[in-house]
Order: sequence, then C-alpha cells, then structure tokens
Amino acid sequence: MTAYEDLMALERTSQALAQVAGRLGWDQETMMPRGAVEQRAEEAGSMQAILHARRTEARRGELLAAADAEATDEVERAQLRHMRRDYERATCVPQDLAIALARLTSKAQGQWAAARADDDFAAFSPVLAEVVRLKREEASALAEGGDLYDALLEDFEPGMKADRLDAIFAAMRPRLVELRGRALDAAWPNIAGHFDQQAQLQLSRKLAETFGYDLSRGRLDLAVHPFSSGSGDDVRITTRVSEADPFNCLYSTIHEVGHACYEQGIDAGYRLTPLGQGVSMGVHESQSRIYENQLGRSRAFCGWLYGRMRDAFGDLGVGDEDSFYRAVNRVHRGHIRTEADEIQYNLHIMLRYDLERALIAGDLMVADLEAAWNDRFNADFGYEVDRASNGVLQDVHWSVGLFGYFPTYSLGNVYAGCLHAKMRADIPGLDSQLAKGDLAAATAWLRSGVQCHGGLYEPNETITRACGFAPGPEPLLDYLETKFGALTR
Ligand code: ZN
Repeated sequence: MTAYEDLMALERTSQALAQVAGRLGWDQETMMPRGAVEQRAEEAGSMQAILHARRTEARRGELLAAADAEATDEVERAQLRHMRRDYERATCVPQDLAIALARLTSKAQGQWAAARADDDFAAFSPVLAEVVRLKREEASALAEGGDLYDALLEDFEPGMKADRLDAIFAAMRPRLVELRGRALDAAWPNIAGHFDQQAQLQLSRKLAETFGYDLSRGRLDLAVHPFSSGSGDDVRITTRVSEADPFNCLYSTIHEVGHACYEQGIDAGYRLTPLGQGVSMGVHESQSRIYENQLGRSRAFCGWLYGRMRDAFGDLGVGDEDSFYRAVNRVHRGHIRTEADEIQYNLHIMLRYDLERALIAGDLMVADLEAAWNDRFNADFGYEVDRASNGVLQDVHWSVGLFGYFPTYSLGNVYAGCLHAKMRADIPGLDSQLAKGDLAAATAWLRSGVQCHGGLYEPNETITRACGFAPGPEPLLDYLETKFGALTR
C-alpha cells in the first residue's frame, strides 16, 4: 500500500466512527431515556477520546509527509489538504489544554442554562471568563503569531479572515439598519388558528420531499432544537411543533432539509472520506438559507404553500395569498436571534461578531460584556434589552467555546444571496415552477453547482465556481431591498 492508501484506510475508519458518534448525539436529542444522561456522557466521551487519539497519532504525520509526492489528481490533493489541516490543528493544541477546555465547557454549559433561567449574567460571568481565557490560549497555539480570531475562524470557515468579514459587515450594517427601520413601520398580518401537531408533521414531511430530501436515506423526528446530523446515506433531521405557530415547524423543517440535502447530495464516491461532508459552516448555512428564505419565503412558493396549509388546517385568518406572503415575511420587534426575520437576523450576528472579536483580542472583559451587548443592541435595534435571557444569555455558543462560529450564519446568507442571483439567471421560469410547488430545477441546480462537490474546493472557491463571481454582500442586500421594499410600499 502507498502512504496515501494507508492514510485513506485510517481515515475511513475514523469517519465511520465519527458517524457513529454523531448518531449517539442524534439519539440523545430524540430517543434516549431521561435516566441515561450520565451513561451517555461517558459513552460519548469514550468515542471522542478514541477519535482524538486517531487524529493525533504520530504515524499519521509520517504518512502525510510521504503521501505528498503520491497525489496524482485534484481529488487526492484535496483529500490530503483536509487530512493535513486536521492533523496540524489537532496536534498544535497541547493535550492538557484540549482536555481542560472539554471539561470546562461541559461545566460552563450547565452554568449558562441555570443563569439564563435566572436572568443572572453575573452568575455565568466567572466561568465564561475562564472559557475565554482558555480559548485565547488555544488560539495562540493555533495562530503561530497570526491573528487570534482568524485562528478560531479557521475551524468553521477555512480560508476566511476577520478583515474580510469586517468589510462584508461594514457594507451590510447601514443598509440593514435603514431597511429595518422602514420595515418596522409597515403593517404585517399574522395567521391565526389552532394548528394540530400531526397535521404539521404531515405537511413537514411533504415539504421535505418537495425540497428533494430523500426520506429513504433520512428521517424526520421531533427535538427541542431543530438540527440535521449525519452524512451520506444516513442524514437525519429534526423539527419542533408549536400548535399556535405552524411557521416555526414548517420553516425549521425546510431549513434543516437544506442542510440535509447538502449532505445527501455529495458525490457518493467521497463517502466516509474527508471530502464527504459539507465544506464549511458558511457554505452549509447557504444551503439551508436559500431553501428556507430565497425559495421557501418567495412570493411564488408562498402562493403554493397557502393552498397546502388551507388544505391541512382550514381557514388561516388571512384573506388571500398576498396577505399570507406578508405573514410569512412578517418583520417585528424582538430580542431573539433565532426568531428574527431575514433583515434583522444579520444585525444579530454582527453584534455577536464584534463582541466576540473584542473578547478574543482582549479588548473587552467578560465582566463588561452584558453592558456592551445592551448598548450595541440599543444602537442597532432602537430599543432596550429587558432581561439577560433576551440579551447576552440567549445563545449557548460561547458557553461551549464556540468563538468564530456566529459569523458563518451571516456568511451563509451572503453566499445564499449570490447563489440565488445566479440561479435566477440560469432558471428563467423559476417563479412559475415555485408557484406549482415544483423545486426540482432549483434543487438540481444547487446539487450540481454546490452540493455534489463536498469538500473538494475551499469554501470561497465552492461559491465562486457555482456563481461565476466571487462572493460578496451586494446580491443579498439587493435582494432584501427589492423584496422588503415591495412589501413596505
Ligand atoms: Zn442552519
């Protein structure tokens, strides 16, 4: 066997074990009996220990050095690029620091949940300060003299730099703040009624299939927080149901279907290899967002969905398709990121991005974080944060050490804006198809342009190839201004 073949064999087993570990996580959120919490923590911890040992074993370093000369084509070079990056990052961080971080974040997550329930940031602040201290240490180990935040970003969006994000967000913020002000002045109808759980789940399944999700290689279950997990031939999604608000369930489903279709759509030849997953969090989010927003919340598709919802639930309390479309895209005041509309969502992300960058740079102390959050929220949204659970304590991310993750949500929107512009140019009859609930051309376009490549190209190149231009915020901003300009006229 060549060194390359050796590496790929090692990798195949690791990838299979990682899929098993992921399925343990899925089970924990959906099926696991309540009494199994402690045992499951030990099971999951054991899997992580095995995976970490495999990632860092010295033989891997030797094989990587030898395999360089053997790569013969683009695919093999890309496989090696992923394996080398993974090995270097795993071996850069001292093992006691990795263990300390894992222990601390598991404790911090519990303290965050308790503090959030009590609306008490001061109770969470000391453990968060400790998380930030260790993340700065980890970033220093990874950065090798470069920017600390860039080093953390690399885990979620390889190749992306904070300077580039600064430029993207600086272009977005004023236009979004302006649009937000106009949208809040408009009147937005809402649907009303009682929406049966089973009927919502039935319609969710129909929507999932409409958007191209292959249920023979996936399944839809209930969980507290919607998510997608797995890749290849076992990609599962979850949703949640509120009987007062069916949009929560239906649009969460469409969002997760976008993630799942990406994983299902990757070239089968990459299965259980480093190329066999979505290439970055930002590109992943571009798929979920374009399914959910540019397609799922379009006027044409809403016309079709209105009919399906009337079939399922009867009268919806809105008179016609146009009112229904306005209800789907309703803009209203709110503090919570995950409930935000297409305009305000990105403002939520920019706030978190600037604060976490300052924390990692050492320019902002955790003790001052709540005040900094509240000031910034007031500046961008125009009203006060009323309590910590509606402000600085609303998201789990920082408690589990996810710094550098938030901006990938907005990058997903930016990428989705670019892909949507090109998709519209390539599929002239798109709206008449969407109006019939026909997503076949749109999802086939995404599959062949983005999804099938998995990790073959770097994130930026993946989007550039699909669009024919380098990604930037303009298409998203133009789309939002056109859409909400018409809705607020
Ligand atoms: Zn998502």
